[in-house]
Amino acid sequence: MVKILVTDEIHKDAIEILKKIGDVEIATNLSKEELKKKIEDVDVIVVRSGTKLTREVLEHAKKLKIIARAGVGVDNIDLEYATERGIIVVNSPDASSISVAELTIGLMLAAARNIPQATASLKRGEWDRKSFKGIELYGKTLGVIGLGRIGQQVVKRAKAFGMDIVGYDPYIPEEVAGELGVKLIRDINELCKVSDFITLHVPLTPKTRHIIGREQIWLMKRNAIVVNCARGGLIDERALYEALKDRRIRAAALDVFEEEPPKDNPLLTLDNVIGTPHQGASTEEAQKSAGIIVAEQIAKILRGEPAENIVNLPVIPSEKIVKLKPYMELAEKLGLMAIQLLDRSIEKVELIYSGEIAKEDTEIIKRSFLKGMLSPILLAGVNIVNAPRVAKSRNIKVIEGTISESEYGNAIEVVAEGNSERISLVGSVVEGRPVLREIDGYKVDIKPEGIICIIRHIDRPGMIGKVGLLLGDYGINIAGMQVGRKEPGGESIMILNVDHVIPEEVLEKLKKLEHIKDAKVIHL
Ligand code: NAD
Repeated sequence: MVKILVTDEIHKDAIEILKKIGDVEIATNLSKEELKKKIEDVDVIVVRSGTKLTREVLEHAKKLKIIARAGVGVDNIDLEYATERGIIVVNSPDASSISVAELTIGLMLAAARNIPQATASLKRGEWDRKSFKGIELYGKTLGVIGLGRIGQQVVKRAKAFGMDIVGYDPYIPEEVAGELGVKLIRDINELCKVSDFITLHVPLTPKTRHIIGREQIWLMKRNAIVVNCARGGLIDERALYEALKDRRIRAAALDVFEEEPPKDNPLLTLDNVIGTPHQGASTEEAQKSAGIIVAEQIAKILRGEPAENIVNLPVIPSEKIVKLKPYMELAEKLGLMAIQLLDRSIEKVELIYSGEIAKEDTEIIKRSFLKGMLSPILLAGVNIVNAPRVAKSRNIKVIEGTISESEYGNAIEVVAEGNSERISLVGSVVEGRPVLREIDGYKVDIKPEGIICIIRHIDRPGMIGKVGLLLGDYGINIAGMQVGRKEPGGESIMILNVDHVIPEEVLEKLKKLEHIKDAKVIHL
């Protein structure tokens, strides 16, 4: 009989399904030592975010085949080690989307009608019908930032209220937005100017940190209401506080904060701020659905059927995988670079393999590329198992081809296109490590690691000095630099490995330097 250990609270209906699969033991609030002991002879472990399945703990598992995470994030699991050990990890990424979307709408209404403030006043024994006059949602413009799983559910519900919807999501194709009835806006500042309500549904990444900053808040209408049920770091809380205090915008409704639980957060002293303690996914249904989804995934895997929510692809180390591993790493880096450099929805990708890799089955290389390309824009959940399915759902066409020779011995060439722009990259494996060889035809020789700034400029004397000086002024150290050009005096490319994140304002200053055409920072 299969032994299943449940170490966090899981919905009772999910437990019933698990009981049909095997012997279930529920043991919550275990210490690390207790967990190490209990994990020794189980086949399956079911957790939420409370149980930390570190390498140290997993080393004690002798029979473990499946780790099931009821929910989305798998940060509490050492994925790499689980994969190495051949342990399958499953999760339930879709379980909470409706709950978060409903809380978003709830907070919009609550802020528009001052419901929490009016309730508090009523309970104080007051009967104040003047102070809490609100506004309607009907006929207003809702700006949705991020049109993924949750953003799309918010759109559907907001339409029922008669709202006009505009959206900002550079990675979503026009057709998808069209089908949803959302007018896509290519500039977030424009969205901030035209919206009465603004709601955020993007993951927190270096690129989306403070996506709503002082500049965006200043552009908002005086009556604007900002709702955040995504992640705290997406909004500059200091700037939001100042705007709300001075009544330059109407209100904010927040489920998430930069620091959680908030400590002395001045936002919570304002009467035009309402909020909830990160409750987006806290519903009976989301928790039930998370449990049931993973229980069903476990049943499928044990029956030997394909399961949709597998997060990793455990492979018993074989000579073949050892050989492909550096190419998988290279492909993933190329994917990461392609999306960040193109910075828009990718419609088509061509992958051309040459040298020894051209003779292999490249399916896993393609999957690694797609994982790299999709992970910076999507919430946790893109992996080499589901990447082709996610790419298909976003209408991305992938073409593969081979050529027998490359000047680099072996190479993966990528051409990615979207919204009339394209980028081409060539990378190869040297001594088992990925190396970037070309960007848009410019020859380079770069380790794709850390933070890289790519500057397109006209080849003029003194350019390197100007850039170095500006970054130096802001205390940004340049660890390495390369310049690629096709002809003297023509368009060139400068690539800098930097030790620190380049703030948006410094990047803007860089772009304004004479002879510089564009500058981008990418994280690898
Ligand atoms: P998702 O991955 O399905 O969608 C994210 C969308 O954001 C994608 O369409 C992507 O193209 C878009 N995007 C990425 N970078 C962008 C950028 N720079 N500008 C504009 N759009 C960008 O994610 P999801 O499941 O819809 O989750 C959305 C957010 O909700 C995440 O931040 C997640 O952490 C949060 N969340 C909160 C709770 C809660 O309890 N409050 C629960 C679940 C999820």
